[in-house]
Amino acid sequence: MTRSNFLKENNARHMWHPMGHPGKLQQDTPTIITSADGVHITDIDGHRALDAVGGLWNVNVGYSCQPIKDAITAQLDQLPYYSAFAGTSNDAAIELSFELSQWFAPDGMARAFFTSGGSDSVETCLRLARQYHQLRGERGRVKFLSLKKGYHGTHFGGASVNGNPRFRAAYEPLLAGCFHLPAPYTYRNPFNESDPEKLAQAILAMAEDEIKFQDPATIAAFIIEPILGAGGVIVPHETFMPGIRALCDKYGILLISDEVITAFGRSGDWSGARHWGVKPDMMSTAKAITAGYFPFGAAMMSHTVAEVFEQDKTGSASIGHGYTYSAHPVGAAAALACLAETKRLKVNENAAARGAELYQGLLGLQEKHAMIGDVRGGHGLMAAIELVTDRDTKTQVGPDTGLDLQRIAYENGVMVRASGANILFSPPLILTSQDVGTIIGALDTALGAIG
Ligand SMILES: *Cc1c(COP(=O)(O)O)cnc(C)c1O
Repeated sequence: MTRSNFLKENNARHMWHPMGHPGKLQQDTPTIITSADGVHITDIDGHRALDAVGGLWNVNVGYSCQPIKDAITAQLDQLPYYSAFAGTSNDAAIELSFELSQWFAPDGMARAFFTSGGSDSVETCLRLARQYHQLRGERGRVKFLSLKKGYHGTHFGGASVNGNPRFRAAYEPLLAGCFHLPAPYTYRNPFNESDPEKLAQAILAMAEDEIKFQDPATIAAFIIEPILGAGGVIVPHETFMPGIRALCDKYGILLISDEVITAFGRSGDWSGARHWGVKPDMMSTAKAITAGYFPFGAAMMSHTVAEVFEQDKTGSASIGHGYTYSAHPVGAAAALACLAETKRLKVNENAAARGAELYQGLLGLQEKHAMIGDVRGGHGLMAAIELVTDRDTKTQVGPDTGLDLQRIAYENGVMVRASGANILFSPPLILTSQDVGTIIGALDTALGAIG
């Protein structure tokens, strides 16, 4: 048996995958990626493709970042692991907490709580939001508000505020006290409103109505992504996030900005909230913090939130939450090297420039291919197209069409990601204009083949 066949058979026999049907994946072997360089991946059959998914929105500095690899091996030699539970710490994590407090100072963030990924960071923010209100004597503030189509990871807390039934239905009952508002999704919304600003205002009015209906004194936090990622790159009108901030201020609700995708340059700025001129109370980060080279994340807290914990004299501010791998020294070393490269390469500027080109390219394809119902993006290097069978009725294609398009684009040298009727683009932020052309070209061919 060849190595390739051995791996394919054992994948089918023994390995279960996130977001996939175990039975179906026994029939359709996944693409087995064996190596990568720059913005390219190579599979076990030797086929090389431009990775327009960027791993999973995270490999911002590409696959050949030597400083991150060196930092990881050096840290492994010095200290492969030690716990950060109260009483011990490590130098890499301390240095990183300083670096992040500088990085996010314009967003008002002052403290870092380290995690192993985005779901952990979201969970940390949700739990600490409740504790914050308890410490201030508002024990009734336990509920959470979020957006339909929002993605906040798959822990029970994150799934509870998640806005896609696909990640919820099989796992009910979820956390009580979570309520969802419509997303600022201009192409489809319950108001039939196609003007982005009017839609933002309608949702904000509905949010205020919901807050009053629930009783503001029962709501702990509002969690939103500054630009909705996995839900289909939904870009709100510029008045939306400031409007949510104003509502949170008015009613004493914490604003958690879920920046797991948008932080560190993908949105065209160093954070998504900054892109909209908003200062949140907490931020969840992960993904690009280590560009995927090590599982890691950070939940960030503002001064105002931190003070409530730090000035507590009763002992109830002790944090009964954390992970064996919180503040992992190797992850922290990887993050320090990754952030240095992220800054040195000014990937935020490249994300804004290449993101604009990609968006224009996709709009060009829309003129040519009737199957593209909607094109979203234009704010950094994150974009989506939504496929329909009929532009007038906006009927979405079945899930197989997206997967067919993904397969044909891959055969033509570009990996994209189908998620239902959406095709998502989140390439490494070191992308060139020529790479943008390659993506558009492969997509053009694939759309022609299935259209
Ligand atoms: C990916 C993602 C998460 C979850 O992160 P994991 O590392 O997969 O646990 C949370 N929030 C947002 C906005 C994400 O995109």
